[in-house]
Amino acid sequence: MTIFDAVKSRVTPRMAADRYGLHVSRNGMVRCLFHDDTNPSMKLYDDHYHCFGCQATGDVIRLTAKLFGITDQEAAKKLAEDFGVQNEQTEEKTSVLAKLSRFREQSEQERLCFRAMRDYLHLLEGWRTTYAPKTPEEELDDRFVEALLMTDCIEYLLDILTAGHPEERAEVVKALLTDGKMTRLQEYTERKKREAV
Ligand SMILES: [Zn+2]
Repeated sequence: MTIFDAVKSRVTPRMAADRYGLHVSRNGMVRCLFHDDTNPSMKLYDDHYHCFGCQATGDVIRLTAKLFGITDQEAAKKLAEDFGVQNEQTEEKTSVLAKLSRFREQSEQERLCFRAMRDYLHLLEGWRTTYAPKTPEEELDDRFVEALLMTDCIEYLLDILTAGHPEERAEVVKALLTDGKMTRLQEYTERKKREAV
């Protein structure tokens, strides 16, 4: 949307006339700016004006340009500033779409991280019982030790991914995706699962 369209969709000729001090009668008539008008013969409609004396017709930008003796481009800028238009509709739309796509991407990454860590946690839970020492003298199995060391940490990260604030979740995702940590974790889990079979 151009600045011209943005202004025209937001500002009616009537709004501009009121703002810029033209005397508008109750039925929307003003003295024409385009000919020497003694009785108001210009009618302001929602999207244009029309003079029944000299047949001048145009939009709010043309009206403002004539009123201030400036170009249409300058009039559009002035209206945008005075009525706070600034092409915001286009910008809003783009930023909403960008946000949505970032949000989708993050949700997808969170899901992947969650799955990878949940699988790993299941593996650890299995190790914790399967490889627990049967007697106090027995040497500790590496897998049992790993389960002891890692379970709390993984549970904590999974908690964040399920119930944390968006910023916290983003931190976890970022940490896991850095240097391919998540891919390595997935491969590791898969390999260990296969070894156990
Ligand atoms: Zn006229």
